[in-house]
Amino acid sequence: MGFLRKVIETVFGSGGGEVRDPDGIYLYIKCGRCGAPVRIRADKRHDLQRDYDSGELVLHKEVMDGSCFKMIHTTTRFDARYKIIDQKIDGGEFISWEEYKQLTTPIKESQDKEKGAPSGIS
Ligand SMILES: [Zn+2]
Repeated sequence: MGFLRKVIETVFGSGGGEVRDPDGIYLYIKCGRCGAPVRIRADKRHDLQRDYDSGELVLHKEVMDGSCFKMIHTTTRFDARYKIIDQKIDGGEFISWEEYKQLTTPIKESQDKEKGAPSGIS
């Protein structure tokens, strides 16, 4: 059962692991208005523009937060090895994968914390 679940999580990206593919660049942001986490996927082959003066790659991405529908504008600069060298954002803030994961993971309710036997006083 655990294996099947792992496969589903890998395919649909709903689990705890960070889903990546070789051509994808993943950025995680948080809406500046409502704080909702948003994941951005960019494609190395199609979404990056090369700055011929510096040799850097530039990604312009506009995303709409699915919770309050605010548009968030991001600009990320990469070096030739796709390493992020500069990031600008308007309407939100960049967060790490760990923060994104925390924000998207529902807080587990400890419903069974009272499962101990009732006191034996009769
Ligand atoms: Zn929002």
